[in-house]
Amino acid sequence: MERIAVYPGSFDPLTYGHLNIIERGRLIFDKIIVAVAHNISKKTFFDFEERLGILREVLNGIDKVEVDGFEGLLVEYAKRKNATVILRGIRTVSDFEYEFQMALANKMLSPSMETMFMMTDAKYSYLSSSLIKEIVHFGGSVSSMVPPLVEKKLREKFEKMQKGGII
Ligand code: ADP
Repeated sequence: MERIAVYPGSFDPLTYGHLNIIERGRLIFDKIIVAVAHNISKKTFFDFEERLGILREVLNGIDKVEVDGFEGLLVEYAKRKNATVILRGIRTVSDFEYEFQMALANKMLSPSMETMFMMTDAKYSYLSSSLIKEIVHFGGSVSSMVPPLVEKKLREKFEKMQKGGII
């Protein structure tokens, strides 16, 4: 049986921290489905289609990796995809509290679904999508934190927002 894991997230935007989890996950699972959450109640910088597009471009052609989007209950989505594992990354104790709660809730909803955590690689432990947006907003370089395409898209979007008087 194929061991399939779903790696869900907002990916707003995708960072080298996320990519590191995907890379390491590929060594363990037969397939990783990187699943972009379409959550209407959560305000994101990049909309759903933009986040999906970036992931598709960056991860295009990488063996054992599929990019997809999902809406609604994660465990139901994972079951539909024949996944048995939900993969998540952990950076800090505060990540743990949230992740622990989510994992228990998902276990209650679907007892056969396992959540597995991977510790961040130390060099990415400080990396978060919100930190990256803040740095770019104030004109700093994030080239060591995100793939070149992500940095380009961030700059373009901030410029557009500035021109449009949104920020
Ligand atoms: P969500 O809104 O679902 O938390 P994120 O895109 O912020 O989505 O994160 C997706 C997953 O990746 C989460 O499990 C998060 O802890 C993990 N993650 C985010 N940044 C890093 C990082 N630098 N190192 C390891 N894991 C990370």
